[in-house]
Amino acid sequence: FSKKKEVNSYQFYTSKMNAYLSKQIALDNSLHHALEREEFQVYYQPQVDLRTGKIVGAEALLRWQHPEQGLVSPVKFIPIAEENGLIVPIGEWILMAACRQTKIWQTNCLPNLRISVNLSARQFGQHNLSQRLVHILEETGLEPKYLELELTESIFIKNTEATTRMLNELQTLGVEIAIDDFGTGYSSLSYLKQFPVDTIKIDKCFVDSVVTDSKTAKIVTAIIQMAHDLNMKTIAEGVETKAEFSFLRQRQCDEFQGYFFSRPLTATEFEQLLNRENYCKSYIRE
Ligand code: C2E
Ligand code: MG
Ligand code: MG
Ligand code: MG
Repeated sequence: FSKKKEVNSYQFYTSKMNAYLSKQIALDNSLHHALEREEFQVYYQPQVDLRTGKIVGAEALLRWQHPEQGLVSPVKFIPIAEENGLIVPIGEWILMAACRQTKIWQTNCLPNLRISVNLSARQFGQHNLSQRLVHILEETGLEPKYLELELTESIFIKNTEATTRMLNELQTLGVEIAIDDFGTGYSSLSYLKQFPVDTIKIDKCFVDSVVTDSKTAKIVTAIIQMAHDLNMKTIAEGVETKAEFSFLRQRQCDEFQGYFFSRPLTATEFEQLLNRENYCKSYIRE
């Protein structure tokens, strides 16, 4: 991976740019201490099953409570952490925290609860990634099949031997592989036949216009059909309205995630939701 991505090369150097850069540098600096100062938090967004209407999984989403700037969006700091390499320890931290929490919820409420964790390109490029994952799974007692790694298409573009080897290693390990933001990257579909992929996450930008734009409706219908023909599961992200949900449900999209069901929640809130919905009891009865 090249260390210096020329993210700003196309932009004009203005005073606004200058202010932006100093803010980036300030974030970069404070990011170095964020882990040890315990400024990160994991939020959990429920994923709902088509057939039962129940929670079957959650996506772990990173939040940074910055001492001066308040809550910083991952959209802002993940790219910086990618750039300076801190995404590796931070990514490992969220993996450990999310797996540990999921194991607790499995024990107390939902024995089959699955956790989805985003993996950045830099993490995926670690040669010892599977050993790190084995360590985390052993440490937390979570079975590999309950951990789903969300990868973006950018990883699959590099159709190199290393990519193939890593994906096969992960498959052997028994963790699930999901393609995040499907259809938004500059990618060909050929990787779908080469790599072991379990889940396609239909990006929010498709979901957004699925009821207002007939072309999008056809594309989404085709994505779901294709995924099923390839024995893959689909999950729609960013489902915000009843109409979007109805459309996707009719097309047999397997799972749903979005504000229509729930925003990302703190661990405490997620647990309250599980209790409120009587998951623990209803499971025991089944
Ligand atoms: P993503 O993985 O595609 O995550 C989905 C994003 O959509 C989340 O934003 C989530 O809060 C948001 N979202 C979910 N449902 C809705 C909805 O109905 N409406 C709207 N408007 N938004 C919705 P968030 O948490 O800000 O995360 C943004 C991105 O940051 C993630 O996109 C992911 O790429 C990255 N990210 C977050 N946590 C991590 C992490 O632990 N590791 C890495 N590498 N990246 C992460
Ligand atoms: Mg994701
Ligand atoms: Mg996504
Ligand atoms: Mg929408």
